[in-house]
Amino acid sequence: MPTPETARPLASLASPTARAAIPTSEHPGAAASGAAGAGAAADAPRHDWTDAEIAAVHELALTELVFRAQLAHRRHHDPTRVQLCTLLSIKTGGCPEDCGYCPQSAHYETGVERQGLLPLDEVLAKARQARAAGSTRFCMGAAWRQVRDGAEFERVLAMVRGVRELGLEACCTLGMLTREQRLRAVPELLKMTDDKTLDDSTRGWVFQALRDITGASIAADAAAWRAWWAQHRSDFRG
Ligand code: SF4
Repeated sequence: MPTPETARPLASLASPTARAAIPTSEHPGAAASGAAGAGAAADAPRHDWTDAEIAAVHELALTELVFRAQLAHRRHHDPTRVQLCTLLSIKTGGCPEDCGYCPQSAHYETGVERQGLLPLDEVLAKARQARAAGSTRFCMGAAWRQVRDGAEFERVLAMVRGVRELGLEACCTLGMLTREQRLRAVPELLKMTDDKTLDDSTRGWVFQALRDITGASIAADAAAWRAWWAQHRSDFRG
């Protein structure tokens, strides 16, 4: 028999401060905020998270997080299927940032072997291999604090285009981007707005990325975005 302590709801294991901020079905305010609770609207994309809400999620018990992830997953996907993704480190180690947990930081001796940005051909060969093995998404990670402008950034853009041309979804983790670098993504995002191979959720994120980058509040309408960008593109030239 579980003791009264172990029988407590897992959400109650979070700190009192965190619990107060958790907008779940177990806590008053769940319906009002619709943030991380169990209702269908709970996992709609949000961009207005408060520090307290984020801290509350961070402090949840791992098993509670896994449970909530399952609820969200089952609301939107067949629970018997998963998407296969492949992650490739396209630039490894030697990062100037000092994130205390990360073995790629140049501040620590971690045994990670440094590797400069991989050649385009090598990355696309890995992407083809991933596709042949069943992956539908190819993720590229670079140990940078921020992307440098110039040849390396251009090579990363070519990698993303190449991966997309293979019919794979492309993900990147590159550190920080400048406003100008973010704007380079707009034409590619516009192409993706009516890409029939994307699921509705991914297309929703494409429109949200356009809003985040440009600051424009336009609905999820490919033609409207194209017209708006044709009219306003010159406003973004530095
Ligand atoms: S910026 Fe990224 S790669 Fe660099 S140390 Fe931090 S987590 Fe690691």
